[in-house]
Amino acid sequence: MGKSSKDKRDIYYRLAKEQGWRARSAFKLLQVNEEFNIFEGVSKAVDLCAAPGSWSQVLSRQLYENQKEVKIVAVDLQAMAPLPGVIQIQGDITKTSTAENIIRHFEGEDADLVVCDGAPDVTGLHDIDEFIQAQLLLAALNITTHVLKHQGTFVAKIFRGKDVALLFSQLRIFFTDVKCCKPRSSRNSSIEAFVVCRGYNPPEGYIPSMINPMLQLDYNFDFDSLEGVNRYVVPYIACGDLSAYDSDKSYTLQEGDVPYVYRPPVQSPIDPPYKQACILKNGRNVSQNSSLLPEVKDSKETSES
Ligand code: SAM
Repeated sequence: MGKSSKDKRDIYYRLAKEQGWRARSAFKLLQVNEEFNIFEGVSKAVDLCAAPGSWSQVLSRQLYENQKEVKIVAVDLQAMAPLPGVIQIQGDITKTSTAENIIRHFEGEDADLVVCDGAPDVTGLHDIDEFIQAQLLLAALNITTHVLKHQGTFVAKIFRGKDVALLFSQLRIFFTDVKCCKPRSSRNSSIEAFVVCRGYNPPEGYIPSMINPMLQLDYNFDFDSLEGVNRYVVPYIACGDLSAYDSDKSYTLQEGDVPYVYRPPVQSPIDPPYKQACILKNGRNVSQNSSLLPEVKDSKETSES
């Protein structure tokens, strides 16, 4: 693997810009859909941890643009530029007030699909990253139990660490079909994978509660010790067809005789950490002017930097 600055500019990063996606993550959801057909019959969807919004874009393009009476609710800590057909909520998904806000938007109706690509700022300490990721997943699942219709689908990012069996066991309580998949656009070098949980079917008598959720992580319990019928081994699927680009491979920037053309980001950050510095330097607001983003001079520089 190369340096991280180079890794970020892989083939999916470039394709995302060419096809107008706000982030390369769009391909992960598209490839999960290719494998599992999760968008079929969906008219109400929730995108948790949505910024900068490439998954919401996928939902908007695939659902809203075909059928206008679609409801898509997107939530993130960060503000996000608007998207057609997407209602935005800025908030923390682990907070009860955010969950209540999402639930309110559904006005008693149920969602067909909940997706969550939530990721904390990675510390590099795998145990801590995995723990925070698991907490995000549990918060997402708690929200899901309030809004998802019976037999609905939940897709979420997980980190495949040592406690992953515990998460799968918890998910199996609520869904008849749980699979773990790795889209081709997700780098092999990353421990990230996605759970695709279909057939929402909570235990009889289960009452969703944000105050005292049923889902808790009991880290003292060794789920790996379960055996026989008590042990559920979640199928692991590599998705995206083999002809798709490999996210860990390097491809040349130039295709044939066509010279590589630099494309600016599809959506410049609307509230970047360096915003204040730009305002002080130029007296302008970065969200209104993408030219304040670091300039890239030519294609050669792009490929090497
Ligand atoms: N799916 C997005 C896309 O395609 O553009 C990318 C999501 S990004 C990998 C992870 C997001 O999780 C970040 O935007 C971050 O703000 C959000 N996030 C992390 N913790 C959160 C929390 N507690 N509540 C809401 N959003 C959170």
